[in-house]
Amino acid sequence: MSVATAYTAAAADAPLEPGTIERREVGPKDVLIEIAWAGICHSDIHTVRGEWGAVPYPLTVGHEIVGIVTEVGAEVTRHRAGDRVGVGCMVNSCRECANCQAGQEQYCLNGNVGTYGARDRDGTITQGGYSSHVVVDEDFVLRVPEAIPFEKAAPLLCAGITTYSPLRHWGAGPGKNVAVVGLGGLGHMGVKIAHALGAEVTVLSQSLRKKDDGLALGADHYYATSDPATFEKLANSFDLILNTVSAPLDTGAFLGMLALDATMINVGAPPEPLPIQVFSLFNNRRSFAGSSIGGIRETQEMLDFCAEHGIAPEVELIAADQINEAWDRVLASDVRFRFVIDSSTLPR
Ligand code: NAP
Ligand code: ZN
Ligand code: ZN
Repeated sequence: MSVATAYTAAAADAPLEPGTIERREVGPKDVLIEIAWAGICHSDIHTVRGEWGAVPYPLTVGHEIVGIVTEVGAEVTRHRAGDRVGVGCMVNSCRECANCQAGQEQYCLNGNVGTYGARDRDGTITQGGYSSHVVVDEDFVLRVPEAIPFEKAAPLLCAGITTYSPLRHWGAGPGKNVAVVGLGGLGHMGVKIAHALGAEVTVLSQSLRKKDDGLALGADHYYATSDPATFEKLANSFDLILNTVSAPLDTGAFLGMLALDATMINVGAPPEPLPIQVFSLFNNRRSFAGSSIGGIRETQEMLDFCAEHGIAPEVELIAADQINEAWDRVLASDVRFRFVIDSSTLPR
């Protein structure tokens, strides 16, 4: 066992405080990673605030992690000391169920082990990346290509894969008209990736405040959802709508913008249900779908795709003592477009 420094939540309504957590011994198949950068995902906030269910406090969150391997177990073959690596939203799965066998560990039928707040194989509760180091099974550790600037890479481990996976699955590419709803951490990666895949990309944001940024990220069009004319103008026009919004939406209004046989994919995860009027699905034979992160193989594919296409997240680098302020800004939709914590600023 080792002691890591960390920013930790003691309760749903308490600010995160510096402290320490325990990491398990490096087992034969484990990799010890000194964390360099950790992204702030809206899921961290939903979780700590108790919006998704009971939380095992005290909890350290963070599931967008990059760092350097400092030690490997005796049976590790995929990583070596000195490697640039990443860890995303899960650190283990059963590996035996049909979904794990298919490389879709995120849909493990026995439940994947989340990077934080989950019961680990040794019975302890997993603790996330707002921390100095972490011990992870080598099979859940990704290679971060040299072409991706290290301080920008962390958000790919959640925001990147969560948008890449559904865009690939539902065939975003040339000739496809793709809308991305919400231009935050996930949304801005959705725009970059859909553009790189060759799709025509439209941002649907609450206002036109970030229009110049959105177009610079690769969007072809940008509309405000606060303007009712947007929904009329874009009726029946999209092949895919990728909803990244962290709050409930008027689903009927968005479904009305889907063309024949088109799909609205929900990756945003508000705690409240999203009500659906089925008639809005009957029109144009529409689909309403969801998607959760991506498998390990696909996450590596996404990292390699981003390296090849020169894609990296737009980040605002912060020190550990700015985490609480950054959370407030995420909640106010005031983030361009991902906060990334410099782990060297954690108390040592
Ligand atoms: P984020 O950076 O806060 O972005 C969410 C964006 O949604 C905001 O920037 C804002 O964009 C828009 N928005 C926020 N509140 C809104 C409201 N009340 N009405 C309309 N639009 C609103 O969050 P994120 O980190 O990208 O995460 C987005 C959601 O995805 C969260 O719920 C998160 O838990 C979830 N998530 C799911 C998965 C998965 O596997 N499915 C993985 C990661 C995250 P505009 O200002 O442009 O409107
Ligand atoms: Zn996340
Ligand atoms: Zn499984």
